[in-house]
Amino acid sequence: NETVLDVKDLKTYFYLDDNQVAKAVDDVDLTVRAGETVALVGESGSGKSITSLSIMQLINKPGKIVNGEISLLGRNLLELTDKQMTKVRGNDVAMIFQEPMTALNPVYTVGNQIMEVLRKHKNMSKKQARQRAIDLLKLVGFPRAEETVNEYPHQLSGGMRQRAMIAIAISCDPKLLIADEPTTALDVTIQAQILDLMSEMKDRLDMGLLLITHDLGVVAEYADRVLVMYGGQIVEQAPKRHLFKDPKHPYTEGLLESLPSVHKEEERLGTIKGTVPPAHKFPKGCRFSSRCPHAMEKCFETNPELMDLDHERAVRCYLYTED
Ligand code: SF4
Ligand code: MG
Repeated sequence: NETVLDVKDLKTYFYLDDNQVAKAVDDVDLTVRAGETVALVGESGSGKSITSLSIMQLINKPGKIVNGEISLLGRNLLELTDKQMTKVRGNDVAMIFQEPMTALNPVYTVGNQIMEVLRKHKNMSKKQARQRAIDLLKLVGFPRAEETVNEYPHQLSGGMRQRAMIAIAISCDPKLLIADEPTTALDVTIQAQILDLMSEMKDRLDMGLLLITHDLGVVAEYADRVLVMYGGQIVEQAPKRHLFKDPKHPYTEGLLESLPSVHKEEERLGTIKGTVPPAHKFPKGCRFSSRCPHAMEKCFETNPELMDLDHERAVRCYLYTED
């Protein structure tokens, strides 16, 4: 399948007071192909959201993209003007956030918000845009779309608001959909409905889906490929089936051990001890060394590179290097 998103050597740094630099995203490579769901997984503070905001170019001061290439359908987004990027956002790439109430405008009807996107990007007449809004609302599962189109966000439940967000996101047929913890704020049963809907839309529109989550249950259900992020870097990359069957990086192992379903009770270690160090205080060597049960002397000296194990898998850890 065609590569939709190709990110290379992305570095997004935050320049703090007293000359400290938080390397929130530090040399990240990632690709997403059409029709594929790539999960970016890690604890909060690992750099997942900053990665997605960097792709959308929604990084504000004191943050800055200091290096890299972000190609969407072969176009390097970092070379576009603000005006060109505004056209790309919503049209070629769309994003769904955790809390739809903050992303939806409370003073406009759901229909108006979809129509605004269509009129901005697709030059539709008011009448055409209204009809398309109704069709989109039907597509994402509103049974009475002709009425919903006139309703305000507060008249909808949390799950229905997230459906409305999906309608807005897909309204211009984007090639890439980025979903950042899209269901974290919802009940478990509604979560599955929303993720099923996103997955169905991804197939139907042949989009790439970049799914950002801390929830390995979601990854197990929906991802094709998984990138595990820690300390602003990818530490492991694998097709889903390999990752769950045979995790390589000690951090991935720790994440999987905290999943209740995969281990017997007596083997469970609970969650990994400690927390992700803040991005301006990463350890000198391997960024996971302060929490790793396998840390060796060299782990505290230099940070390992991300190394290919085969053409599908890569890991950043000295346990897999020779010597
Ligand atoms: Fe642990 Fe060392 Fe591997 Fe880092 S490089 S994950 S500290 S064993
Ligand atoms: Mg986040």
